[in-house]
Amino acid sequence: MTKAQPDLIVVGAGLTGLTIAERVASELGKSVLIYETRNHIGGNAFSYFEPKSGIEIHKYGTHVFHTANEKVFEYVSGFTKFNNFQHKVLSNHKGTLFNFPINLNTLNSFFDLSMDENEAKTFLESLKENPGGRAENLEDKAKQLVGRVLYEAFIKGYSQKQWQEDPKNLPSTIINRIPVRFNSDSRYFDDIHQGLPLDGYGSWFESMAANKKITILLETDYFDIKKDLSPDIPIVYTGPIDRYFDYKHGLLGWRTLDFEHEALPIDSFQSAAVVNYPDLDVAFTRIHEFKKLYPERRISNGATHIMREYSRAAEREDDPFYPMNRGIDREILSKYKNEKVGNTIFAGRLGSYKYMDMDVAIAAALTLYRNTIIPLLT
Ligand code: FAD
Ligand code: UDP
Repeated sequence: MTKAQPDLIVVGAGLTGLTIAERVASELGKSVLIYETRNHIGGNAFSYFEPKSGIEIHKYGTHVFHTANEKVFEYVSGFTKFNNFQHKVLSNHKGTLFNFPINLNTLNSFFDLSMDENEAKTFLESLKENPGGRAENLEDKAKQLVGRVLYEAFIKGYSQKQWQEDPKNLPSTIINRIPVRFNSDSRYFDDIHQGLPLDGYGSWFESMAANKKITILLETDYFDIKKDLSPDIPIVYTGPIDRYFDYKHGLLGWRTLDFEHEALPIDSFQSAAVVNYPDLDVAFTRIHEFKKLYPERRISNGATHIMREYSRAAEREDDPFYPMNRGIDREILSKYKNEKVGNTIFAGRLGSYKYMDMDVAIAAALTLYRNTIIPLLT
């Protein structure tokens, strides 16, 4: 490095790393050097525009920004505007499309009834198994929420494919994210703010990284250059925590995803941006059709782009996506957390081994900046 030493090193140019770097550069006026293994910034929320069709493709799966956190919304609004897209997911069970999460429409079409909200509530109560009792695992919890028939149609197969594990052996908390509704609200997220960045994710992330005090080195693995760094510079590390310690206490369990892309010479493939496939005789979990996330772009040039998503256990060389969080993982994690690390701070979903939505990752990074980084650098 011929240039002056940076005030802070950040490993990883995902939303966590970008948020920390942006604050340090813009508010403290300090210099930040970011190392990023991939050839792009934005981490898993990265997207690119397919040159021929002009369709914005989310390389690592559909990312919809949504938040109820006004501070986070105010912060991100400094870099991008959003299109107000309301994410509505459909579930294809045995060839028929249903609203998912389960709502009044799902109940009426699945059971061929025409209930109102109150009737649906009473009806669902009659389906519930062991209401008010203990639910030790995902299967018990789901049957308690919606009963066996709906569980078997919409949750059992999807969860088994997603986690490659019998839902009897999965934690009940997995389903916490999914509401059951008695009205016709078919949105996937309840949050007041939701949408896609109007000019694309790339434009959002570039705006966060625009400060001249931020330098980003792409295609640079931190572990390849670590030995050349001065030990005095504080580091925010947003890569996998087990990798940092060279896996000395073992590998943390992650699910990875395989994505199968297909460009099609038609305007529309399916009737929603994401259609879930809960049946076990279909190998993939869902199909994404990216242009549906941007109705305002009105792309009708006889082209669409779809992506089938398959889930499996991650090997060391795979992208880690969802922490498995089994008992063994929690034991391994606590060993890593007890390690002495000098001036390195662990952050982000990989550094903390936690699933975080984008707004949660940003909120955590802002808190880390305020409580830890400011005192460290000033
Ligand atoms: P990441 O985005 O993973 O960034 C970490 C970065 O560190 C990566 O770019 C990586 O290459 C880099 N890195 C790792 N190790 C090294 C190293 N040794 N040297 C240099 N660089 C390194 N959130 C939502 O809000 N809405 C959604 O709809 C949504 N959909 C999702 C769908 C999927 C399939 C997944 C997996 C996640 C989704 N998320 C969604 C969550 C979102 O992706 C995360 O909140 C976000 O990625 C967290 O950012 P991060 O910076 O902590 O991690
Ligand atoms: N889930 C399900 N059926 C679906 C969608 C989700 O049973 O059609 C369950 C499944 O166990 C999944 C969990 O709900 O792991 C959380 O789903 P979510 O869509 O929040 O996961 P993500 O979008 O992060 O993959």
